[in-house]
Amino acid sequence: MTHIAIIGSGPAGCYLADHLLRLIPDAAIDVIEQLPVPFGLIRYGVAPDHQSTKAVARVFDRALGRERVSFFGNVSVGRDVSFDELMSLYDAVVLATGAQRDRKLGIPGEEMPGVIGSGAFVGWYNGHPDKLPPDVANVRSAVVIGNGNVAIDVARILAKSTQELAGSDLSSEVQDWLSAQPLERIHIIGRRGAADARFTDHELAELGGLQRARPVVDVADLSGESAVVKTLRNFAESPARDTPVEIHFHFHLAPFAFLGEEKLEAVEFRTGTTGDRVDIPAQLAVTCIGYEALACCSLVPVNGCFANEGGKVGERLYAVGWAKRGPSGTIPTNRVEAQQVAQRMAEEIADGNRAGGARLRELLLERGVRWVDYTGWRRIDAAELAQASADRCRVKLGTTAEMLQAARGGSGST
Ligand code: NAP
Repeated sequence: MTHIAIIGSGPAGCYLADHLLRLIPDAAIDVIEQLPVPFGLIRYGVAPDHQSTKAVARVFDRALGRERVSFFGNVSVGRDVSFDELMSLYDAVVLATGAQRDRKLGIPGEEMPGVIGSGAFVGWYNGHPDKLPPDVANVRSAVVIGNGNVAIDVARILAKSTQELAGSDLSSEVQDWLSAQPLERIHIIGRRGAADARFTDHELAELGGLQRARPVVDVADLSGESAVVKTLRNFAESPARDTPVEIHFHFHLAPFAFLGEEKLEAVEFRTGTTGDRVDIPAQLAVTCIGYEALACCSLVPVNGCFANEGGKVGERLYAVGWAKRGPSGTIPTNRVEAQQVAQRMAEEIADGNRAGGARLRELLLERGVRWVDYTGWRRIDAAELAQASADRCRVKLGTTAEMLQAARGGSGST
């Protein structure tokens, strides 16, 4: 058999497993994941009110459940098994580790309570076991820095009413935090013009249909032509509705400093045209400016991702997804890319008579590592779905301990 290890079970890793199964008939594929649960950004990145996007998890679930695929959840490369060990056990190793760290602005005040990166914020509202709630209360004004789709997601989750979040898998703790904020204004801020914004029109237009909030755009701020500019112009020209929350769009404002004594009080910007100072009062600032890959043992990313040529990082070593190309593209981008990398792997790798997953299992047992296999994941999934209610499609288990307990057939609540 050709033994392949994929590190990471997000969309890129799962699409790759699916393609490799088709292209390499004797492939045995082990998907290694540091969390007890699979699907990475589908579970912890895609917004909880976008369940139709999350539904692609069903495709990935089928791939993980196939006979020639094994899931090793709760196994951290570097802690439980080394990268070098994986290289010796497998004919090929793939980095599908994503871009797990928030990029930093590198301006004063960024570590202040009230300032949070989008990875931490989105992970928290998606129930990631390692992400903490924002260290802030009484948010009347929130600043969202960046003009990409993550900024739109963050603004929308902040803006929606409890009723509008019905049907999502948002936890009751997150809902309580959101409901407790006396939010009046959300400011979405781009350093360039409206025509340069990276929003997709569909995501932007959704903000025009919210019940609790309405977009506010100054038509004088709009220049250039694009689908996004057209939608922003529609926002500007729509009759004003009386809503508790306003979502203000600002362009040509570059972040300069986060201001406050002990916690955030305002964000200081400089205009792109004149360099004038503009302060926007805020108790919460979410920076939505992209992500970077983390090192994997001795492998260190350069400029946010792993240096590669068409997905090839080195001999028998490949990368897919954000680990390969940086944090860009939508979920289907990963399907196309995974097919190309799988094709290349099918041409390049051969059965090297390596031990593969059989030896990995032995190593993990010797080291007392309790991994979660596919059956264990199905138990976690069933436990979460069993707790669904009239207004929640799933209640995610919030801690690793709860997930491990559910994986072993316990209730999941500790
Ligand atoms: P993004 O689309 O690359 O947007 C990042 C934004 O941050 C840009 O507006 C960028 O401005 C700005 N930025 C970067 N550095 C900055 C700095 N130092 N100061 C001020 N602004 C700065 O990234 P993203 O929103 O994180 O999304 C990541 C990927 O996931 C994208 O491909 C996105 O489309 C995708 N995604 C898709 C969906 C969906 O389809 N529903 C949802 C979420 C995410 P410049 O343009 O000037 O560099």
